[in-house]
Amino acid sequence: MLEELKHSVYRALIALPRSGLVQGTSGNVSGRGGDYVVIKPSGVEYDSLSPDDLVVVDLSGRVIEGVLKPSVDTSAHLHIYRSVPEIGGVVHTHSTYATVYAVLGRSIPVYLTEIADLFGGPIPVSSYVPPGDEEIGKEFAEKACPGRFQALLMRNHGVFTAGKTPKDALTAALIVEHSARIAYLAEDAGNPAVLQEEEVRKLHERYREGYGQRSDEKG
Ligand SMILES: [Zn+2]
Repeated sequence: MLEELKHSVYRALIALPRSGLVQGTSGNVSGRGGDYVVIKPSGVEYDSLSPDDLVVVDLSGRVIEGVLKPSVDTSAHLHIYRSVPEIGGVVHTHSTYATVYAVLGRSIPVYLTEIADLFGGPIPVSSYVPPGDEEIGKEFAEKACPGRFQALLMRNHGVFTAGKTPKDALTAALIVEHSARIAYLAEDAGNPAVLQEEEVRKLHERYREGYGQRSDEKG
């Protein structure tokens, strides 16, 4: 069941190590199809994963299909889907620069027009929640910047992103890491200027309105 969704979750999953966003077996991706969620199995190497290894659970976490144990973060993913119905994909990584900000307990400021475009504000940071705890999902539903692309730095842990599809959630994870890297380097080199709130709002609105025509292109 859910073959198409399994493939889109799988494509987002294998992009994580290729993009340098994960090490070892860390990180996970899920996608929602109606009342079901397709999610990465726990502790499996990315190299040996196939779409058939993905686990199908219902929104309460009951395994519907798959022989492997679902990701340790499944309850957090499920909480996000139950709380924010428009979300269709979730990505979690410990990507380096985003995690630096998570460790510092600092949001990623809007130094870049790209953050304004996609997220419409700084990337916020959560309170501390132990890994694997469902409370992560609650923090995300309450604190992530809302919209087509959503993101929240998890204090002392990593980053969760979400979107309408697993591909959108992956895009958000890539842009958060890129922005965190630029922010870190810019802060190290001098005093970067934060974009004015009014300008951030305008850019975000323009991006949202133009998204259909401009596809994934980012100016
Ligand atoms: Zn984690």
